[in-house]
Amino acid sequence: MGRTWYPIINEERCVQCGQCIKLCVEGGHFAYDPQLAPRPVVTRPGNCVDFCHGCGDLCPKGAITYNGDKTGWKPPHLT
Ligand code: SF4
Ligand code: SF4
Repeated sequence: MGRTWYPIINEERCVQCGQCIKLCVEGGHFAYDPQLAPRPVVTRPGNCVDFCHGCGDLCPKGAITYNGDKTGWKPPHLT
């Protein structure tokens, strides 16, 4: 489980489509609070999986980066 690795949402880019929350919930991790969907709020950062880029790869607006990410990954779909 991630301690220092968790998603950071760029609120200015986010269009609150909810896809990141759906993906994470379906994966059983619940880093985002599903009750606040479609607004992505990371209420359980410790549930995030180290080095997972699942939600960031999916985000259509490139609104997600990761605390502690030194992998060189960059958000796709930056518009
Ligand atoms: S997938 Fe991206 S645009 Fe959609 S709610 Fe999540 S952060 Fe916002
Ligand atoms: S990186 Fe993976 S585990 Fe972490 S919030 Fe996104 S989908 Fe969930």
